[in-house]
Amino acid sequence: MSNEVLLVSKTTLNEMKEYYKSHLKPNTPPGSLFAAKKGAVNITAYKSGKVLFQGNNSTNEVTIWKAKGEITKKKPKVKSVDSSLPNGFSDWSVLGSDEVGTGSYFGPLTVVAAYVDRSQFELLRELGVRDSKEMTDKEICRVAKDLVTFLPYSLLNVMPEKYNHIQPTMTQGKMKAVLHNQALHHVLTKIAPITPEAILIDQFELPTTYFKHIQDQTVQVKENVYFQTKGESHHLAVAAASIIARYAFLTGLEDLTKEAGTKIPSGAGSNVDLVAAKLLKRGGVSLLNKYVKLHFANTEKAKKIAGYK
Ligand code: MN
Repeated sequence: MSNEVLLVSKTTLNEMKEYYKSHLKPNTPPGSLFAAKKGAVNITAYKSGKVLFQGNNSTNEVTIWKAKGEITKKKPKVKSVDSSLPNGFSDWSVLGSDEVGTGSYFGPLTVVAAYVDRSQFELLRELGVRDSKEMTDKEICRVAKDLVTFLPYSLLNVMPEKYNHIQPTMTQGKMKAVLHNQALHHVLTKIAPITPEAILIDQFELPTTYFKHIQDQTVQVKENVYFQTKGESHHLAVAAASIIARYAFLTGLEDLTKEAGTKIPSGAGSNVDLVAAKLLKRGGVSLLNKYVKLHFANTEKAKKIAGYK
């Protein structure tokens, strides 16, 4: 499968929409202007002016529009960061995983695994995939909405109520390991018979601890698994997983904000204690249970502020 990205003007975008009128798909991915399927080629046009051509013979389709746009070919930029990964790892087709929300008192714990084939590197860069820690929330949401339309991925979102139900019998480390293992397994099943050249987990604990944590799981993804801290700067698959996870986490916070009718913040600083105290006064621990990870030290602080015993 080949992918190409063309950057065109607003006028050309509209011209394209007219041209593909009889091939338009009923559903357009979020953030896109239109989506069409002509023969084996999927065409997705984004409001930014980027148009993706995916599938066999996509080059033929691109040829029609080449004169009216520009093909932006950036050389993959690989940061030289110390790692124990094999040489050339960033050029492999990799299944990557990452989690978000472990350090935030409010909101879910979100784990995502995503598979990125080497033929998609260019496309991902064009869409703006990079280290999610360097991206604004707005950027993350925009890019994630594009990614979920075509990347094979698995998203496990554990909202606080469920988290608090599991947590007393499971450390957060074990919970993370189990979720990573599950998400990885889901994607492996989705992409079969294709198998990734490697699996990369954004390292959150020692590999030996990780494998101990998943020992009791019926399915254990163990083969070809690599661990790397700051995994998102070592492979686009982890960067993509991280972006989707962050997007889901932010959406989780938004949902909780709507439910509470008050802004639900992320993090674990003193500002979150005040919001938690407010919820405690409103509905006690049983209400707070729906919003926060109860085992955090913030719970005791919030109780003090609320004058709650
Ligand atoms: Mn991480």
